[in-house]
Amino acid sequence: MSVEFAVDADGWVAAARKLPSPNFEARPAGAVPTLIVIHNISLPPNQFGGTAIAELFQNTLDCDAHPYYDSHLRGVRVSAHFVIHRDGALEQFVSCNERAWHAGPSNFFGRERCNDFSIGIELEGSDVVAFEAAQYRTLGALVSALKARYPVEALAGHADIAPGRKTDPGPHFEWQRLQNDTSLADRYFPYLKFSKTP
Ligand SMILES: [Zn+2]
Repeated sequence: MSVEFAVDADGWVAAARKLPSPNFEARPAGAVPTLIVIHNISLPPNQFGGTAIAELFQNTLDCDAHPYYDSHLRGVRVSAHFVIHRDGALEQFVSCNERAWHAGPSNFFGRERCNDFSIGIELEGSDVVAFEAAQYRTLGALVSALKARYPVEALAGHADIAPGRKTDPGPHFEWQRLQNDTSLADRYFPYLKFSKTP
């Protein structure tokens, strides 16, 4: 079952559920998205379903509702461009033309402030369980749509650009599967170790 998406000139995917976040700003002058950053998120940690991720990105999360929210998320202002839920459903919070707040302090081969030039995609998941086939289907289609609209040069995990500070998307994320699904050349995956020898 194939899925196809398109990104419009305003940076939105029409087929995504649109949940605008106030947590964004203009990209710096001249900055265009050349990097796609893959994350995982679950709220509360390791629990799937519910609306807490959207509430976090829209600044409406009730931080009294869970001890983790109280200790980690009070006053936090973050966002990502996209969230892909366990069933493959796609939500969009920020136009891809704008700068979302997903990567934090980060470094892509010497270039800092990755939010300036990246698009952030959150997979609902964690570092301890596999992602769902439906999530890979949506992700592959989304990456292809983004590449058709923007001069994307590379994909990276959050942990790749913020090592020591972040671990997502974690050991269960199948980079090779994403490459196969998107038919992108090795150069798009600068952190992937390719074993070309038989
Ligand atoms: Zn992350």
